[in-house]
Amino acid sequence: MNEGSQYSIHTVCRTCLSTLHDTMAYDLFLIPGLAKKLCVCTSLSVEQQDGFPKNLCFNCYAKLNELHDFQKLCVDSVQKFQDLVSSNAFTCQTNFDVLDPSAAVADLPPGRRGPRQL
Ligand SMILES: [Zn+2]
Repeated sequence: MNEGSQYSIHTVCRTCLSTLHDTMAYDLFLIPGLAKKLCVCTSLSVEQQDGFPKNLCFNCYAKLNELHDFQKLCVDSVQKFQDLVSSNAFTCQTNFDVLDPSAAVADLPPGRRGPRQL
């Protein structure tokens, strides 16, 4: 009804749907790697002709970069941890004290079998 209230696909942020201001729009397909970051971090499909807005607002752009850094940190740490394990930097003993009273008291069988840790 009210034509003035219609959205333009070019002026809304793809990920939060807020209205974009020209200077603060980040094009997913012009900024190298940005579309892939969004895809990796959200598991959403991100294609150039998918009909969704192709810009991000500044907040979402910043959040996405932060999230992607965190995601990368997690993945890198898995690799690093595996390297450390294979170079015997860790012992197999995992019997450290854990501050979880319920687990500690609940089912400790006689003997020295502590609660299993990951
Ligand atoms: Zn946004």
